[in-house]
Amino acid sequence: MVTFTEIELHSQWIDFNEEEHTYKGTKTPSHETLEELIAADTDKKLREFTAQWFPFMDIWKSWEHPDFDEEVSAASDTRDLMLLVLELKRMIDEDDCSRESFENLGTEFGRGGTEKHEQAHLHYLASSNSFSTYIRANRHCESVEQSFIEHYSDNHMAKQRLIDDGYLDEDGNIYCPFATLTYATKELIEERHLFLNGQEERVKSLDPDGRYPVMNFFGGNLGKRISCSIDRAYFFIDNIIGDCIQGLRIETRDGILAPKADTNFTSLWLCLSDSFRESRVTACKTCGLPIIVSGERGTKRLYCNDTCKRKYKRALKFASLVNDDGMELQDAAKASGMAAATAMRILERNGMRVNSAQ
Ligand SMILES: [Zn+2]
Repeated sequence: MVTFTEIELHSQWIDFNEEEHTYKGTKTPSHETLEELIAADTDKKLREFTAQWFPFMDIWKSWEHPDFDEEVSAASDTRDLMLLVLELKRMIDEDDCSRESFENLGTEFGRGGTEKHEQAHLHYLASSNSFSTYIRANRHCESVEQSFIEHYSDNHMAKQRLIDDGYLDEDGNIYCPFATLTYATKELIEERHLFLNGQEERVKSLDPDGRYPVMNFFGGNLGKRISCSIDRAYFFIDNIIGDCIQGLRIETRDGILAPKADTNFTSLWLCLSDSFRESRVTACKTCGLPIIVSGERGTKRLYCNDTCKRKYKRALKFASLVNDDGMELQDAAKASGMAAATAMRILERNGMRVNSAQ
């Protein structure tokens, strides 16, 4: 069986004399790298991650150095999409594929091919130019956009109609809902919900005159009976991963298949997919970040690390001090060693309430 874990990179390093360097193999992304990226929930951690895996998405060229800030944004977009895939996998593993769970992600349901079918889409508002350029090149988005416009003109659709519907602007910019990654205005992004739930702040901060990269994930045309099911979640997962592993090349070593990735980005997506072979995904009871659990024996893993385990115990102590002992919130916070807001957020995540009527 071919396993894609820790695969080698494909001649990634080209130095300033245009000499290629074969990757030394001591530093290819692994499952630990995946965990580092998941844990990088602050700008500082994300920058540390990017520095360690620089260049993450771009490649060295003799005449151009990858831009570090751009690479940080690419890592950030990657993290967002990986969290989305992991949440979908958690929904599958924890039998939580309800309509509400899909809608919590920002899924839009729409009319299917027949009365008995329903389609679904997810959209992601990307932030990085290098990420967007890379995905567009690998998914041939420019030619998809061109043929989309040509199709309409061939069918005698007036140009004005395309403009009125927001697919084209006066300057010839195209928004194509069939391209994997296409550029949309703030107005369109808001009107058609072209973002994931949780991205509302980013949408609000956009300039009305700009155009922004939007990814489109098709969740299939499924029978209504299985519209909100494991099948739907897997449909999304395969489409998202599919868009991100286009840099995979199959080569051989000594005649045996040996897959190679073009960048750390692709390699990391292969690690993620590989981790789904024999694992389940759950959410940490404390911070809510996904945990990929494998080789589990005995007690079920509930926290991403010991810090989160200790925090959870403190939150329980806080709840007991308030609910059972009638302590004031601020006193309970002091006694349990945890800010009241943090404790309440953790408790809420686990369906517990504190008696804050006082
Ligand atoms: Zn945690």
